[in-house]
Amino acid sequence: MITSKRILTSEIYRGNYIYQRYHTGFTLENERVKNTGELPMYFIENHHEGIIDSAQWDRVQNMIEESEKRRKENIQEYPEDGGKNKAFDNKLYCGKCGSVVGYYRAIRRQKKSYEMRWWRCRQALKGYCDVPYMRQEYIEENFSQLLLDIKFNPAFDDYIHSFMENLKIKPEEEKQRDKLKEEKEKLNMELYQAVENELGKNGKDAKLVDYLTDEIMKIRAEILNYTKREEQLEAIEAEILNLRKALEGFKDKRKDPLGYYQNTIEFQSELFEQFIEKGIVLEDGQITYQFISGFEWEVPINYGSFQEQIRIKRAAKRAAEKEAFLNGPEVKDLLKFCREPKSLTEMKEYLPKYVNNDTFKRAIVIPLMKKGILKQTLPDQPSRRLQKYYSVKK
Ligand SMILES: [Zn+2]
Repeated sequence: MITSKRILTSEIYRGNYIYQRYHTGFTLENERVKNTGELPMYFIENHHEGIIDSAQWDRVQNMIEESEKRRKENIQEYPEDGGKNKAFDNKLYCGKCGSVVGYYRAIRRQKKSYEMRWWRCRQALKGYCDVPYMRQEYIEENFSQLLLDIKFNPAFDDYIHSFMENLKIKPEEEKQRDKLKEEKEKLNMELYQAVENELGKNGKDAKLVDYLTDEIMKIRAEILNYTKREEQLEAIEAEILNLRKALEGFKDKRKDPLGYYQNTIEFQSELFEQFIEKGIVLEDGQITYQFISGFEWEVPINYGSFQEQIRIKRAAKRAAEKEAFLNGPEVKDLLKFCREPKSLTEMKEYLPKYVNNDTFKRAIVIPLMKKGILKQTLPDQPSRRLQKYYSVKK
């Protein structure tokens, strides 16, 4: 659009004219319509005296292009999404309404810029379900914790053991299965006989054949159930074996007070795709994973504890930064400055980090006093106006 407009403009500037770019249309209303081929367009060279010559035009053209390029560079296009965890596509389902849990992304560029990736029940977005958004990092963390739990939690071994025991064909079931097989064989013979008889009668009465066929089908289904259990048992054995192998490298089973394995692992995308049939996400963020071979497992963590985890980590980071500051060069200089007793105001002026005396005192003076490297000149009258502070070597 812009290009064709520019070409047309350019021609006018060069002195040429394109006729019938617009026409009045084929309707009764007298409106100008862009000619998109209904009528011929005419290009008239040297229609009028050119405003600028060709060389000049090209220079203008370049300038326009340059400025357009700059303008485009300043527009931040919605960037392509490299951060979506594709492993979760169509694998997560809402535990409340059963709908698929879909992906959302938020980008903010003003002030504190951030990029957030969320997953939420599709119905909830439309207002038909009320489960909250969950950060992608949480779901990744949840799966990492699941893997560690499978490796280290003896309760998982108990669970899988009894799950497999239930699938195993018990001796009395084995007997029952043999009996069913015999019965099926017997009914088969009867069926052959019945079919033969029916054929002799020219197909007059097929009731017995129908009855026998039904019975055989029922018995077949019962026998098939046993076979399915045997097949599932084999599938679980193989899956557990592969899973154990994949988790061999993880050694640290220590947990933090919130019940998270401390030494968490990176999200194992391949393992998720290899083993997980689907994940059911409950309202509080707990996720029950269904493995391909049919067993399930979940870890007792939820979105609330994940957020708490983040708060704790942030607080720990802040505390570490504070400690680093108190041991850093600025405070060292301040302590040198305080070899002669100084008032709070003098100290704050020397190290102008906080806006008022109270914050300065709380953030710097009190911690240093607690460390025993800063003392008050009037320790018995802590709130005296004449109070001064001096540093002592430890
Ligand atoms: Zn839902």
